[in-house]
Amino acid sequence: MTTDVVEDVYLQDKALRPLTLNRFAGQPVIVEQLEIFIEAAKKRGETLDHVLLSGPPGLGKTTLANIIANEMEGPFTSTSGPLLQDATALAPLLVSLEPGAVLFIDEIHRIPIQVEEILYSAMEDGMLDVMVGEVEKKTLRIQLSPFTLIGATTRSGNLSAPLRDRFGMTFRFEYYQLADLTTVVSNAAEKLGMDVSRASAELIARRSRGTPRIALRLLRRVRDVLETKNYSGQDIEHITLALELLRINDKGLSTQDLNYLRALVDAFSGGPVGLNTLSAALSEDSGTLEDTVEPYLLQEGYIQRTPRGRMATPLAASLLGLPGTVVTK
Ligand code: ADP
Repeated sequence: MTTDVVEDVYLQDKALRPLTLNRFAGQPVIVEQLEIFIEAAKKRGETLDHVLLSGPPGLGKTTLANIIANEMEGPFTSTSGPLLQDATALAPLLVSLEPGAVLFIDEIHRIPIQVEEILYSAMEDGMLDVMVGEVEKKTLRIQLSPFTLIGATTRSGNLSAPLRDRFGMTFRFEYYQLADLTTVVSNAAEKLGMDVSRASAELIARRSRGTPRIALRLLRRVRDVLETKNYSGQDIEHITLALELLRINDKGLSTQDLNYLRALVDAFSGGPVGLNTLSAALSEDSGTLEDTVEPYLLQEGYIQRTPRGRMATPLAASLLGLPGTVVTK
């Protein structure tokens, strides 16, 4: 049984999702360890211990959760923190889990504490405690089927310690290396029936911010251009023309990244400036800046976090000074 109660912004890419660990490109440390833990659990005939996946959006947390269910041959049920705002949303989900099921909770850091508390005993003892009785309140304990909870979060720091401690394994996703992202693009191109060379796939991967979700979106738009202009995916020049037509800058930075850097460099003279001030200047939620914009800019050396605030590096200044780099996605 598959229950997709999550609002489906992700499933448009479902057809492109790898279904097995050996088709999952990148994140080598996670894949290597998971292979061992999955094999060990299967040999013992047990369910896999609970798994916490953290990292910026679009890097494959949902995809990996699906793969784990598939590899463990268990049914996959998915929901998300914002949908679990009270116990009445979580309890029926837990009770309906079949033995060996995987329950995926995206944005698990957004579960309120009273719902989180229900998860403690469910994760630890496989028990659900419910309060019954109008006058004389009693706690009823319900034995749940053995299951694996997979939590995904962009902000593991926001998870309470008691919840974090109940996960038997925690994996942090990193932005993809170019070679791995090129493989993601090549595999997806093949599934889309496109004839794209490795070099062309690499060109697309280079502009994708180390993020499979962006790479796949870009690949689809490139496909539109190739098809309508009668371009060849084997021809680097054609791919370059397609990317130019799409106005993708050659560093793979998004409009949001560029706006952030422009504000930091131009409006705040390169900083240091506090996150909340930046967030107000950009009319952008500070959590979004912290989770999705800053990690990549930090990794690529465009900004620094200092005790006095965010600072632009000379690399950011030179990027913004270069003509033709600031284009919209
Ligand atoms: P997250 O849950 O971290 O936001 P998703 O799992 O939804 O990310 O991944 C975003 C898209 O990127 C999915 O459509 C998936 O097909 C693709 N994707 C992510 N990681 C990989 C990977 N390692 N190999 C192939 N495709 C991937």
